[in-house]
Amino acid sequence: MLDVLRRVVQEVNAAGDLTKALDIIVDRVRSAMGTEVCSVYLLDEERKKYVFMATRGLNPAVIGKVTLELGEGLVGYVGERAEPINLKDAQKHPRNRYVAEIGEEKYHSFLGVPIIHHRKVLGVLVVQQQKTRRYDESEEAFLITLSAQLAGVIAHARATGSLSLSESKDLPVSIFEGMAGAPGVAIGTAAVIFPQAQLDNIPIRKIRNVPKEIKLFKKAVETTKDEIRNTSRKLADRLRPEELALFEAYLHMLDDSAISGEVVARIKQGEWAQSALCHVIQEHVAMFEAMEDEYLRERGADIRDLGTRVLARLQSSDTRKVRFPKDTILVGEELAPADLAAVPRDKLVGLVSVKGSGTSHVAILAEALGVPTVMGVEDLPTQLLDGKPMIIDGFQGSIITYPSKEQLAYYRNIVKEEAMLVEGLEELKDKRCITPDGHRVRLWVNTGLMADVARSLDRGAEGVGLYRTEVLFMMKDAFPTEEEQRIIYREHLLAFAPKMVTMRTLDIGGDKALSYFPIKEENPFLGWRGIRVTLDHPEIFIAQIRAMIRANEGIDAHLRISLPMVSCISEVDEAKALIDKCYAEIVEEGVKVKKPDVGVMIEVPAAVYQAREIARRVDFLSVGSNDLVQYMLAVDRNNSRVAELYQEFHPAVLQALKQVVDSAHAEKKGIGICGEMAGNPSAAVLLMAMEYDVLSMNSINLPMVKKALMTIELKKAKKILNKVMKMDNAHQIKDYVDEQMRKAGLGQIVRSRRN
Ligand code: PEP
Ligand code: MG
Repeated sequence: MLDVLRRVVQEVNAAGDLTKALDIIVDRVRSAMGTEVCSVYLLDEERKKYVFMATRGLNPAVIGKVTLELGEGLVGYVGERAEPINLKDAQKHPRNRYVAEIGEEKYHSFLGVPIIHHRKVLGVLVVQQQKTRRYDESEEAFLITLSAQLAGVIAHARATGSLSLSESKDLPVSIFEGMAGAPGVAIGTAAVIFPQAQLDNIPIRKIRNVPKEIKLFKKAVETTKDEIRNTSRKLADRLRPEELALFEAYLHMLDDSAISGEVVARIKQGEWAQSALCHVIQEHVAMFEAMEDEYLRERGADIRDLGTRVLARLQSSDTRKVRFPKDTILVGEELAPADLAAVPRDKLVGLVSVKGSGTSHVAILAEALGVPTVMGVEDLPTQLLDGKPMIIDGFQGSIITYPSKEQLAYYRNIVKEEAMLVEGLEELKDKRCITPDGHRVRLWVNTGLMADVARSLDRGAEGVGLYRTEVLFMMKDAFPTEEEQRIIYREHLLAFAPKMVTMRTLDIGGDKALSYFPIKEENPFLGWRGIRVTLDHPEIFIAQIRAMIRANEGIDAHLRISLPMVSCISEVDEAKALIDKCYAEIVEEGVKVKKPDVGVMIEVPAAVYQAREIARRVDFLSVGSNDLVQYMLAVDRNNSRVAELYQEFHPAVLQALKQVVDSAHAEKKGIGICGEMAGNPSAAVLLMAMEYDVLSMNSINLPMVKKALMTIELKKAKKILNKVMKMDNAHQIKDYVDEQMRKAGLGQIVRSRRN
């Protein structure tokens, strides 16, 4: 059964459009279960009805025409209960209802299972039989498993509308839900980027010069064929004749009469070679993978491999420059921080990533750059979006493709309102952040790129709470030297002096990769990350520390060095010893420079419990709430599937945050917070009440946080905090704080951070 399941899921995955996918499902399920009828009903959310979408065994003429009200008949009953219903004789069931045109009068046994995706019932999968008998447990288990596996595929196919990839029609107006990544609204044109030599994510593009495209494709095929012939020649004396024959088979597959011919036919319809090739290969792979014979089934992998080779050739010989539209919304399966550099800044208006969430590093960087971003839009058909108009709402985390006039007008208005809000906050720029009852809070910024500096100063930053030095490392193709680093750190220090600048030592691992220092791990967020890497590579650590200290020569800015991902005291001691050694050496070399403060990022639960011991050893603490939340709640900050559970207002998180402040203050040490939470005005009110000395955030959020803290008295904030510390769930806490903010006249600010 497992085998059948796997094959059906594969075939459905490769189907390309919803109608085909559903048709494959009913056909394969009917024969796999040896039953007489299999049908799918899908929920039409707008009309609030179940629509009869596909069948084997019932009347195909009424597909798409027959509908059932919610809760109507046994299908509606399955949907309502969101659980399987297995009946020996459906005709005796009180909820049974016949729809004459469907032709199910003669069937007695009924098994219906709900198709559920992200807790929502999408439809119902039904099998029926004339014989009066209950489907047995293994049949029920099979259908439930299949339905669970297909739910995602169906949701995706449905999100794509009734589109056929092969026809590459335009998308209808569609709304796709993801997660807020970086606030703001962008109205623009999608530009899809895709990883090289991967068949699955190539966007469909139109071309004008068909003969040129065919020539490009044929050249790629010929090069691939030459490579295959060469390999075959080299291995001729080591392989058996039947193995060598495989090479011949590959060459034939690439002939005009086979794959090449089909690709050329698609190119002739105006499609570029890359997506034409991918489409044809995927069809062939699906065909092989659906075969009964295991040997033939495995040939699917060979075809995929062949396709990948041709694609790689095609891409390496394609010298066309990607031209980004002037209002580019960059779309990708899994955008990484480095992708931001792919588009000239003046053309980039928005970002969309199918994977990831609001605390992924690409989203944090986008927020720093003020680029509205939507993350985790799992059902987005990226292949169909290239060059298409879209709106992205980085507050709500949604995307609209082919927006209507009304939608455009609505969002243009939001853009205008936002601009007015920002303008209204301009006057706060040079004011210090003091609550109406006289409490002073330091609002600092997080930086990474030089581009952040001017923006930060412009928004009234009073210091840098986190300079993510790894961003510099990511932009390079080898570790930057001590001198290269010194020059860049010096620019940062010069720009902010005499304000305090907190430079964090290299924090790679997790989702932050260096192309020239790959770390391959099963569980990277629990692996070799941050201080763990740099203590294992003291040469990297020392070069960086020396560069930081030497950068301050002659400036004497207030430099602070912070250590990421500390989980035990020995790491603090070792790092401090290395820093002391570096400083002593630099002084010995005759450089006159002040000793930097050293601090620790509190990012893992162990550090929360040992905050006092850590504070005793260092000059300051800084909470990295992005990681602290993920490690406390066991919720991957990059995984959109569990993003609902990533809750900054979780009572356990708030308790930990409070405990850390108290620990630092008990040791008379300063404490700040530099996770995204500090940039959320509602959270900032709680953090102020907890008595954090510094809130450090993306500069874009600074004016709003300042406005909130200059409006709410510390006394009031403490009352709010006392109240929420007694609450037991994150939603209740967030709603309560937002409500208090609205009452204080901060409604527009709360609305502006609608996530
Ligand atoms: C954090 O974890 O909160 C933090 C500031 O560090 P980063 O987001 O770079 O991991
Ligand atoms: Mg962190």
